[in-house]
Amino acid sequence: MNTNKKIKTDVCIVGAGPAGMLLSKLLIDQGIKVILIDKESDFEKEFRGEFIQPGVVNILKGLKIYERLERVSIPIDSYRIMDHGEKVLEYKFQDEKGICIRQSKILPLMLEQCNENGNFDFYPNHRLETLKFEAGTVKGITTKGDAENLDIDAKLVVGADGRTSGVNRLLGVQSNQAKFTMDVLWIKVDRPKNWENNIELRIHDEGYLVLLPSYPNKIQLGIDMEKGGAEKLREKYNDISELVEMLQKVIPEMKDELKDAISSWKDFTPLSVSGSLSEEWSKDGVILIGDAAHTVGPIAGQGINQAMTDAIELSNMILENGLEKMILNSHLSKLQDKRYPEVAALHTLQLTQEKLLSMKGEEGILARSKMYSKLMKNEQMKNNLQKKITAASLTLKE
Ligand SMILES: Cc1cc2nc3c(=O)[nH]c(=O)nc-3n(C[C@H](O)[C@H](O)[C@H](O)COP(=O)(O)OP(=O)(O)OC[C@H]3O[C@@H](n4cnc5c(N)ncnc54)[C@H](O)[C@@H]3O)c2cc1C
Repeated sequence: MNTNKKIKTDVCIVGAGPAGMLLSKLLIDQGIKVILIDKESDFEKEFRGEFIQPGVVNILKGLKIYERLERVSIPIDSYRIMDHGEKVLEYKFQDEKGICIRQSKILPLMLEQCNENGNFDFYPNHRLETLKFEAGTVKGITTKGDAENLDIDAKLVVGADGRTSGVNRLLGVQSNQAKFTMDVLWIKVDRPKNWENNIELRIHDEGYLVLLPSYPNKIQLGIDMEKGGAEKLREKYNDISELVEMLQKVIPEMKDELKDAISSWKDFTPLSVSGSLSEEWSKDGVILIGDAAHTVGPIAGQGINQAMTDAIELSNMILENGLEKMILNSHLSKLQDKRYPEVAALHTLQLTQEKLLSMKGEEGILARSKMYSKLMKNEQMKNNLQKKITAASLTLKE
């Protein structure tokens, strides 16, 4: 039988992913008391976003966490698109580089840093049960743990609990959906010798592949497929060796590694690509951030970036207005006012990309080449896009 424990804090954050963990660190640095809960007992999920854009890396440097991350991450030199073997787009990161880091590495290191501050408590193995309401305002949460349940009073509750957010569900928030037509199958493959530190999109006759270095010696490989199409893909390549052959043609440098890594469909993890955008991110006493408020597609490595950007912007607003004001929806809703159009614009960009990528044959190659060469030649367009994608103008108020 579980015991019940009553506790009190300034801010209770549900979900210790990139958004919740970064927000914890930023708020305790402001002298705000934080309780962070997560339903999991560890950070070991193998497939999660691993790329952090330069603008966010820059903020992490300011928090001094980067020195700890540097040892377990891979700095990325460029982002490139190869279309049937031809380089059609390349963006080289200049002074500030993005990094690939496994969430199972970054999250424990950030937790270690948060634990050094007396204003912070972390409760793993605690699943959100209810939101506590008083006269329409959220005043805390209750959780269910393995041995004890928590009853937490908080001035502000933050739902950073990812794409299946319980906070979002309990608030009954409606979402708009960007209609992505693709899903992704992920697998990790040994990194071939001489593989460069790039993020790459490889377009081939039957679709595209996403390739990201994964620390220390793997490549995270994503294979696009029709929405819900794992079954169709299995029918198309009725023997797994046919899929291996297709991949070996597109990534000849990885021939042996692919053969070693893939022996069954069970080696893959499917990710349902979703582009949701919640209509209401906050109410009095509660706010949603990260995937709990919005999800984005895999194109241009934006999942963690968008989640951490929310955390940074919310922390900035709390610093500017004070927590007492930032429990009122009239203030909290300003995060949505700022961020909703940015995420919506990203959805549009990703949908346009998805459409271009799904065009087959000569027609597709021509359309993409036109689009990418126009982009590469127009400095202003290129700079604007790069700024947005890399979160270049993100700043942390101090
Ligand atoms: C297979 C895969 C590949 C991806 N690839 C990329 C990529 O290449 N680049 C990229 O940028 N993004 C990628 N993403 C997306 C990226 O991982 C997410 O956008 C990012 O992790 C969102 O961070 P978050 O903190 O908002 O939520 P999450 O990382 O989802 O964290 C939410 C946390 O809340 C906890 N939680 C959930 N429900 C409850 C509850 N009821 N009670 C308590 N705790 C709860 C969860 O355990 C989790 O720790 C990928 C995602 C997946 C699944």
